[in-house]
Amino acid sequence: MLKPEAYEILEKQFGFRRFLEAQEKIIESVISGTDTLVIVPTGGGKSLCYQFPALLLPGLTLVISPLVALMKDQVDALERKGVAACFINSTLGPQEQRVRIDNMLRGEYKIVYIAPERFRHEAFVSAVKSVVISLVAVDEAHCVSQWGHDFRPDYLGISRALDKIGRPPVVALTATATPDVREDIKKQLCLRAPNEFVSGFERPNLQLVVEEVGTTEEKFSRLEGVVHEYKTGIIYAATRKNVEKVSAHLRSAGISHIAYHAGLNDADRRKAQEKFIHREVPIAVATNAFGMGIDRADLRFVAHFDIPGSVEAYYQEVGRAGRDGETSECLLLFNYADKRTQEFFIEGSNPTPDQVRAVYHWLRQQPDHDIQMTLDDMASEIPGLKNSMALSSILGMLDRRGYIDRYDIPGKRSRGTRVLRPEVTSSQLELDEVAIKKKATSDWAKLDKVLAFAYHRGCRQHFILDYFGDHAAMSCGQCDNCRSGRIQVAREASGKENDLVRKALSGVARMSVRRADGWEGKFGLGRVLQVLLGSRSQEVLNSRLDELSTYGLLKSYPSSYLRDLFEAMKTAGYVAISAGEYPLIRLSDEGEKVMKGQAVAHLYWPSVEADDAIPQLSAKSLKVVKPGGRKANQSSRSKEGSTFEETLRLFKTGHSFSEIAKIRGINENTIEDHLAHLLATGTQGLHIDSVVPIERQGIILSKSAPSVERLRDVKEKLPDYSYGEIKCTLAAHGRWKTKTG
Ligand code: ADP
Ligand code: ZN
Repeated sequence: MLKPEAYEILEKQFGFRRFLEAQEKIIESVISGTDTLVIVPTGGGKSLCYQFPALLLPGLTLVISPLVALMKDQVDALERKGVAACFINSTLGPQEQRVRIDNMLRGEYKIVYIAPERFRHEAFVSAVKSVVISLVAVDEAHCVSQWGHDFRPDYLGISRALDKIGRPPVVALTATATPDVREDIKKQLCLRAPNEFVSGFERPNLQLVVEEVGTTEEKFSRLEGVVHEYKTGIIYAATRKNVEKVSAHLRSAGISHIAYHAGLNDADRRKAQEKFIHREVPIAVATNAFGMGIDRADLRFVAHFDIPGSVEAYYQEVGRAGRDGETSECLLLFNYADKRTQEFFIEGSNPTPDQVRAVYHWLRQQPDHDIQMTLDDMASEIPGLKNSMALSSILGMLDRRGYIDRYDIPGKRSRGTRVLRPEVTSSQLELDEVAIKKKATSDWAKLDKVLAFAYHRGCRQHFILDYFGDHAAMSCGQCDNCRSGRIQVAREASGKENDLVRKALSGVARMSVRRADGWEGKFGLGRVLQVLLGSRSQEVLNSRLDELSTYGLLKSYPSSYLRDLFEAMKTAGYVAISAGEYPLIRLSDEGEKVMKGQAVAHLYWPSVEADDAIPQLSAKSLKVVKPGGRKANQSSRSKEGSTFEETLRLFKTGHSFSEIAKIRGINENTIEDHLAHLLATGTQGLHIDSVVPIERQGIILSKSAPSVERLRDVKEKLPDYSYGEIKCTLAAHGRWKTKTG
């Protein structure tokens, strides 16, 4: 707990009455001097997490940010709050920089903002050495990671600079970081056993919907439906061509919109964007380049015409809907074949080291080592290159590493290329091959996750929060799966189901190789399915796969059912599929255990429709394991334990709140408090879904603030909902603190 004075500062200097979500815990961690990693989405209140400690700590807080253009605003805002702050960056003349450094040395500031390249200035570093630095805040920390979307080479120098200035405590902050990027931040900044906080990703007013569509015509018709129903929003398409296609269709349907993609010139692009921002048109059709700095809060929908390349991109894009907190629709039109476009992008942005060398070799052979050709012309001349996108990635890579220079040609749109060190041969190029490979694998894995999201049968919000590591989440009650009631939960298989899973896994095992360090895949999923189904196709017969003992083992099942089953086994981690152009399926260690009967399968069982096709697999008698159920906490068996337990026992035997109150002779309000407390603390294995139906939770969440002080505020908006329901839902989702808790 922070000291009472702290709350005074919060109110007096920042004008806030209380902390948002995780702010208080983060600030406690930062003040204690522990390194801290903060992952909170944009608008979640990250600045306070270092500005507030800066005021409580004795020395100076250095804030490192790549956004030079925003520093002045941030400092102005702090000065208005009476905080002594300044920025030192390249927008200032040398004289002014000197003055500010002198002020800093005299201890006149509590907070100083710098860009990471400032550490290249020896004068600055040695000045900082003679100042007491209480804290270094690294903002936009994902920029340190090459797997992130916004890599800044200068961020790699931060850790060394921190060593030079004696390693003060560090807080690193970012709005998006997948587990990969998070690991990278910790590694690259050399954080010492940091406390990690992931919070605030939940967007209860977004209704995430995925719809499978067969044809482009179907997509158009769904889009029209969405436009008519929701009126204002953004339609994202993967390519410029598709933006134009959608735009043409909307035009023919008389729907007013702007189109936005990288093929437009700067002026047209700006004009389109301005029109949308100023609400002159209700709809934007755009590639993912669109959206930065669009702060239009009234967007009622975001639709994806094609699948995005990563879950981060998807969530960032849909996140632009409903900034005003009102319910908004997020529709992903999903056609499996569209994945080809994303694969093309991945191939294009991840050239292999061989391709890089081939391009360099070609460049080096040109007369004067200087080439003035368009990318397309060059790409067609260089052997082994699939597309000009790959070429552009390669030229970028060679340019960054100082092997070539890309220069502007006056009066032309295409640029020239000059080899800077022709004495270096292609085999002497220094390329970080491990990093190149790792980046490609990571991109393929990201696409795979998007597909898993599309096929997901559980709560979609839950899936996404899981992805970001914001594990506090429960079912949202708003997504298509929650709304339809066909939500699936992972559960243990029955005896017969377990046999089926074991057979399917043995089908994989038969077609892979066991190595000392695990299984290695030899075939793709399609071929494994063909064998299990007993296919007579040429590929199967030619490779004599019909002689395997698993051939035809599951031929009584529909192939669509088996596909779903494999998807579920993949989610459960029993099989893994390698990334890349030719994905191979293999068994995991856990899958091997299940196959050998050493563990019982526990998975998102395929949907009921397929289940009907196999009468012998009735799921009715199965024990359902709820998702997100937290482990029973033993310490809850305190003195109070008995009264809570008694309430819980009666609740579990089917009594309503008021009945329990009558039986126990206690006020109904107290009974509600008991249950709310159990839900908030996650003790006794009680799950909110068994107290309040998911759809009702969703409505309650959509009408309540992230942190509720007075239940009455919510109740007023929901006259048909009881205090008990509201209290329990809010407590379970961490939006309301019970008195007992
Ligand atoms: P981020 O850096 O995470 O994008 P900011 O630090 O800019 O977010 O904060 C987003 C908004 O939230 C700002 O308008 C800020 O004033 C507001 N805010 C931050 N903390 C609180 C708080 N404890 N109470 C109320 N508003 C807050
Ligand atoms: Zn949901």
